[in-house]
Amino acid sequence: MEIIHADIAIVGAGGAGLRAAIEAAEIWPEGKIALISKVYPMRSHTVAAEGGAAGVIHPDDSLDKHFQDTISGGDWLCDQDVVEFFVERAPAELAKLEHWGCPWSRTQDGHVCVRKFGGMKVPRTWFAADRSGFHILHTLYHHTTQFKNITRFDEHFAVDLIEYDNAIRGILTYDIQNGVFRLFCAPAVILATGGAAQAYHFTTNATIVTGDGMALAYRHGVPLRDMEFVQYHPTGLPGCGLLITEAARGEGGVLINKDGYRYLQDYGLGPETPKGEPQNRTMELGPRDRLSQAFWHEQKKGRTIQTPHGDVVYLDLRHLGATKLEERLPQICELARAYAGVDPALDPIPVRPVVHYTMGGIETDCHTATAMQGLFAAGECASVGLHGANRLGSNSLSEILVFGHEAGLQAVHYAKNADACDAKRIENIANEQINHVMNRFGKKINDDSTAKIRHEMGTTMEKYVGIYRDEDGLQNAANIIKELKIRQKALRVSSPESRVFNFDLLHILELGFTLDVAEAMVHSALGRRESRGSHQRIDGDLQAYTKRDDTLFLKHTRAFYRENDNPMIQYAPVTITKYPPQARLYGSAEKQNQNN
Ligand SMILES: Cc1cc2nc3c(=O)[nH]c(=O)nc-3n(C[C@H](O)[C@H](O)[C@H](O)COP(=O)(O)OP(=O)(O)OC[C@H]3O[C@@H](n4cnc5c(N)ncnc54)[C@H](O)[C@@H]3O)c2cc1C
Repeated sequence: MEIIHADIAIVGAGGAGLRAAIEAAEIWPEGKIALISKVYPMRSHTVAAEGGAAGVIHPDDSLDKHFQDTISGGDWLCDQDVVEFFVERAPAELAKLEHWGCPWSRTQDGHVCVRKFGGMKVPRTWFAADRSGFHILHTLYHHTTQFKNITRFDEHFAVDLIEYDNAIRGILTYDIQNGVFRLFCAPAVILATGGAAQAYHFTTNATIVTGDGMALAYRHGVPLRDMEFVQYHPTGLPGCGLLITEAARGEGGVLINKDGYRYLQDYGLGPETPKGEPQNRTMELGPRDRLSQAFWHEQKKGRTIQTPHGDVVYLDLRHLGATKLEERLPQICELARAYAGVDPALDPIPVRPVVHYTMGGIETDCHTATAMQGLFAAGECASVGLHGANRLGSNSLSEILVFGHEAGLQAVHYAKNADACDAKRIENIANEQINHVMNRFGKKINDDSTAKIRHEMGTTMEKYVGIYRDEDGLQNAANIIKELKIRQKALRVSSPESRVFNFDLLHILELGFTLDVAEAMVHSALGRRESRGSHQRIDGDLQAYTKRDDTLFLKHTRAFYRENDNPMIQYAPVTITKYPPQARLYGSAEKQNQNN
């Protein structure tokens, strides 16, 4: 085992990890920063983001409007101090990216162009055509290369955290290319490992998005917060799950059912826009949770279109014309042609809701600190309190910048004052962990496989922990996940001949992480007997759980890991500063309320 000493170890080289590395390297030129990623940085999921990043810049916009949209979008479960912190910093972060070379799309007169996004009542989403994530990640990655104090460890898989006395001491990794273990001793560690949408079968997320960092922190006593809130994006391509960005609706796309009817007007998101006004002012630009729920109801009413890959509705972009489509949405045109066999200029695109984002994650305070000293978390793996019960589209790319920056800053402050590590003790812990991993190379116990268990996990989560949930279904899911965890523990590497690029081993470890995260999702959902944002229940006496219940549930869920037992669930208050809870209204319902 090789031992590497660093001042700060960052696990994850997606948007959040890269932004954290830049900040730390810039303010502490003597600090040694190890940037660890299980894939080459440009393959991190951030690269797949299409639509853009939110930040106030439009003359009609204000920080207060961004604040309010985010909080009502999150169904009042956002920590409002965190949202204030975020909206104030987002524009400067986006402008900084511009200085580092990010090619934001521009208006004819040279201003940064912003588009509308769901649940945002003013255009505020900065974009680079529909390849925003690619350009953001590329800009950040390129910028990191100028810092001599950042050392990259690509294709290094974080196997476990090393901690004692409730303080982080380092990270044990597996070097995928060489099949050896490498131990990083570091007084400060930032987890920036992304989401966990691979807990579900049908998802927009890359196969590497398996919740590793969440599970690592969780297993070491750090709570996972608000895990019941899993976002379905309303427009995924059937079969493959590839995302058709919300920007398609921001640019004017409309959703129609099998009768060609814009059904969203039936779900409190209407009305049909009067002649002469821009289309989709409210309907298609309602928040994602509401749109996905509307699909579910359309399906129940038999108004969706059946396909071999499940029921769909149509996203119609034809009226935008080929020129605009190629200019603003070139990637989704490409995806629709390649994966759905339709040309969006000529045909509507079949779409259906697909799992997209995990609002919950590693509990942190507003400054990315976790309950473990020296351990910070940022980006999708973290629950900093920004998104509440439903994230608004384009807030996440800004989140990884704002809180990646903050994590870098805080880790430097911490590491500069931290005590020296006890190298022997760290090594002993690492050796034990290595033995644990190497046991997976033992003799095969049965014919079970990672693929089988993963499939069962994904379909179970979809069936019972999907857009709508009830007690019986959730209990079923809890029982099945428990069983799958036992089966996962018995898995052994089926190709033990070589440790080099042994993906069999990595997939077993990833599956273990995802199952722990899935279990936290299920038990958090069982505990929340109300409906809020992306967590919708269809049960309770007199269907009591179908409504938001601020008396009992205006609080965060905290799941604590218990080895060989169900997670322990606790609750914590939500921080409300200046926007007290009220009904969450969009479209005509909102207008009516304002007039009353
Ligand atoms: C298709 C798609 C489109 C999206 N579009 C938008 C959009 O337009 N606007 C928006 O705001 N949001 C969007 N999102 C969400 C947003 O892109 C993500 O939430 C965000 O990019 C996550 O960034 P991150 O840095 O937290 O994680 P990621 O970019 O996922 O990076 C995670 C990093 O952690 C590393 N890692 C993970 N586990 C380990 C391990 N065990 N060992 C070592 N390294 C590890 C990975 O290698 C990777 O480098 C989209 C998401 C998807 C899936």
